[in-house]
Amino acid sequence: KEPTLGNPQNTIEILQKYEFNFQKKFGQNFLIDTHVLDKIISSAEITKDDFVLEIGPGIGTMTQYLACAAREVAAVEIDKALIPILEDTLSGYENVTIINDDILKVDIAGLAQEKNGGRPIKVVANLPYYITTPIIMGLFENHVPLDSITVMVQKEVADRMQVGPGSKDYGALSLAVQYYAQPYIVANVPPNCFMPRPKVGSAVIRLTRHEKPPVQVEDERFMFSLIRASFNQRRKTLANGLKNAGTLGLSKEKIIQAIEELGKGANVRGEALTLEDFAALSNIILKKED
Ligand code: SAM
Repeated sequence: KEPTLGNPQNTIEILQKYEFNFQKKFGQNFLIDTHVLDKIISSAEITKDDFVLEIGPGIGTMTQYLACAAREVAAVEIDKALIPILEDTLSGYENVTIINDDILKVDIAGLAQEKNGGRPIKVVANLPYYITTPIIMGLFENHVPLDSITVMVQKEVADRMQVGPGSKDYGALSLAVQYYAQPYIVANVPPNCFMPRPKVGSAVIRLTRHEKPPVQVEDERFMFSLIRASFNQRRKTLANGLKNAGTLGLSKEKIIQAIEELGKGANVRGEALTLEDFAALSNIILKKED
């Protein structure tokens, strides 16, 4: 079945038919540009073997495109006012399941098990921007079997995910994303491709899950606590940032020794460290604990 949605006229028709009111709190900006939709689908490289999870289908625009390309689609939408609309726009698409729930409460690993026998799934979405980071981190940290995540996010967040040391956008999110996946910005998308128009620019980013993490870490959780502590106090040196992070419970001497062992100067800042550096630093500190 060919998609019927993806342009302004059809979107307006549906919204009026159901007297739908946009809910700001749910980050609702619906796509109204077929070129952007085609670009998302092609960069996600969906095949008829794939099970796709869509987060926030809205009125079902991208869901129609996904249903055509994939074997099966599950679409999780929090706004119950959209459910009757989705039942309408997706009638005739036999391979789509609509789930009315908050994505942050859904057992996605369980869904992947049930729908895809635990094999890696593809996540494709025009994300609600107010929860981009918890959604992405949840997918990585909750051991969801993942092939790739192809999502529309705020442009600035896409930049943060893919930069390295030396950029003002570099931070904990960059390191977390790059530990789990290879990021690639597929396209920049201007506000006029959405209804209503968002106040910020958007970008489609594809995160391809690493088969093996790019660095060897003894204790992932400890490395991420170090990373968070280093960037919480951006203007401080790494040594001071880590010393002040009470939850880490590290003495100043131990921190200074570890930084020296890493081969960095005493005044180095966290934002100058690569993922490899953070992995090595966390392994050095843990070895000292033994
Ligand atoms: N996919 C549609 C499109 O591209 O036209 C809509 C995208 S819109 C940016 C985000 C969608 O996510 C909205 O439909 C919104 O209601 C939904 N949403 C917001 N918070 C959610 C949550 N916690 N769980 C599931 N869906 C959510």
